[in-house]
Formats: sequence, structure tokens, C-alpha cells
Amino acid sequence: MATGNAIRGTRVGSGPMGESERGESAQRVIVSFWCSNGHETRPSFAHDAELPSTWDCPRCGLPANTDMKNPPPARRTEPYKTHLAYVKERRSDADGEALLEEALAKLRARRGEN
Ligand SMILES: [Zn+2]
Repeated sequence: MATGNAIRGTRVGSGPMGESERGESAQRVIVSFWCSNGHETRPSFAHDAELPSTWDCPRCGLPANTDMKNPPPARRTEPYKTHLAYVKERRSDADGEALLEEALAKLRARRGEN
């Protein structure tokens, strides 16, 4: 990647002397960001650039920050549950309980045989 060239091109305001000294070797700072799924991404920034406080994880799209132990919470794409979603969720819970009951009944039956 030729990101160095892009960065150099955006520099404005440095005098001719400063350019000849620093222009060719723009220093890069690599910063680690972690999302709440534990993915680490390490974008690099110009050493004098202002670092963002959050960074979108390229793997799952969740926001990430530089605090590995305290990543930002996942953005909620659905701010509220629709009534239908709520009903579906309750129904699947009930199904899960029924399956569990069935499994337990089988287990008890098997124990009874032994
Ligand atoms: Zn992620």
C-alpha cells in the first residue's frame, strides 16, 4: 500500500524546509482497537494525526476502541422489539422448555431401565 504518499499529499502549511526534512518519511503510528467480540484491528495513523476514540471493527462491524478490557457496547440496530418478535421469542422459549422436558423424560426412562 502506498498510504505514505496519500498522507504526504494532504500535508499543508509546512514550509519548504520542513518538507525536505520530514516529507519523505512520514511517521506512522499503529494503534490497536478492540471490539466487544474481541477482534483486534490495527489501523495506522500519521504520527501527528488526531486519533479517533472509536474505530469500526472490519470483521464484524461493531465499534471498537483502544481499551481492550472495556470495548464500547454493540450498537443496537433494533432499538425496540416489535410485538411479533416478542411473541416469536416467547414461543421459541416454550419450545426449548418442551425439548428440555422431553430430554429429561428420556433420561429418567433410561435410568429407570438400568
Ligand atoms: Zn469485531
